[in-house]
Amino acid sequence: MEPESEIKMDEDELFEKITSGEVSLRKIEKYTDANSAVKLRRKAIEKTSNVSFEYIQNHNIDAEKVTKKNIENMIGAVQIPLGIAGPLKVKGEYADGDYYVPLATTEGALVASVNRGCSVITRSNGADVRIFQDVMTRAPAFKVENVVRAQEFVEWIKKPETLKHMQDKISEITSHGELIDIDPYVLGNTVYLRFSYDTKDAMGMNMVTIATNTLVDLIEDEFGADPISLSGNMCTDKKPAALNSIQGRGKTVVAEIEIPKKVVEDRLKSTPEEMADVNYRKNLLGSARAGSLGYNAHAANVIVATNIACGQDPAHVVEGSNVITTMEVTKYGDLYCSVTLPSLLVGTVGGGTGIGTQKDCLNLLGVAGSGHPPGANAKKMAEILASAVLAGEISLIGAQAAGHLARAHAELGRGSF
Ligand code: NAP
Repeated sequence: MEPESEIKMDEDELFEKITSGEVSLRKIEKYTDANSAVKLRRKAIEKTSNVSFEYIQNHNIDAEKVTKKNIENMIGAVQIPLGIAGPLKVKGEYADGDYYVPLATTEGALVASVNRGCSVITRSNGADVRIFQDVMTRAPAFKVENVVRAQEFVEWIKKPETLKHMQDKISEITSHGELIDIDPYVLGNTVYLRFSYDTKDAMGMNMVTIATNTLVDLIEDEFGADPISLSGNMCTDKKPAALNSIQGRGKTVVAEIEIPKKVVEDRLKSTPEEMADVNYRKNLLGSARAGSLGYNAHAANVIVATNIACGQDPAHVVEGSNVITTMEVTKYGDLYCSVTLPSLLVGTVGGGTGIGTQKDCLNLLGVAGSGHPPGANAKKMAEILASAVLAGEISLIGAQAAGHLARAHAELGRGSF
């Protein structure tokens, strides 16, 4: 039988009870403080698994804080090297200036590549970037009797007074979240309602899950539809989905740049024509042939490395990498490049944004915590990250185009390029 949870034990006694199985690994915090619990759990794992950890105990994460909201069964921390790329000149509505972008990665050459793209963008007078939509979605599934009832349900949902009623309900449970819209989808006798919220500086998944749970209860009480799942997978969270590419999820952001021909030649050792051709055949035609959702070179690399650095949910690289990259030669012979990110999920409050090292990275971007007005910091962050994705695309396509040019020159006997 487990001891009473309010009884605090000394470490030796508690360790005995953990290794004998009397206190389970997940309940150690009930009997001691978080730091001691982390240490005892780690030692118990060392003993039962017959390993000796050398590194994971060495960190400065506040166990008292993170074990309350970020991690369970904590035994230590994994470190990831952090690099910076920049300065990156961004000309957005919220981000306007030169930024150093933090990237946490073990992938050699990634930071160097993004850094080169940043240098090209900054020399070309900066990336223009705009946010076209900003909504976090949650889509519960309901079962109804038949298609006639499904139609009644959709008609009820689409009434302006229903939306207003639900918006009023939401305003009682969150001071920052706002219900913006409800999009119904019918499949046989199942109805999915895709709720869209403005979540201000929060990425918003917890916020919209709590809010939608309240609305599911309201719908069950007032309309009588049978709630099946709070998430019916049409949200769509952390799964590749064309819906997110088309309708957007999180922030829909576009960043663009016109790179002078001379900068392409000097910095990327290529030409606008070669780069546009590589982009066309690789990112557009190749991706279409593959049935890909991401028409880009390596947006995922930048999204995940910045997400890890800045305390974001790294699994949102799934939505974040739905990126389309375009490149074309302008009438002046320069290179126009753009990236369109339909579903970039970022937040500057909540989740992992309060952990020390991650907060340092948010501070580097000048976006830690609540913005003024609320929402401004997350939008600023999205503009910087979209510009960093643009930098990564320019650099990699440039490298591939230069490689192609170099091979062509070698084949033509003109020496190395
Ligand atoms: P959160 O940790 O729940 O924090 C959001 C809260 O911060 C809001 O409820 C809000 O309070 C408060 N807040 C204070 N200042 C704010 C501001 N300026 N803008 C917006 N909110 C502000 O964060 P979250 O972004 O909703 O959720 C992030 C977490 O969700 C991550 O840890 C992620 O891993 C996890 N996640 C959850 C699910 C899920 O299904 N539950 C799915 C994916 C990820 P008020 O509401 O009182 O305004």
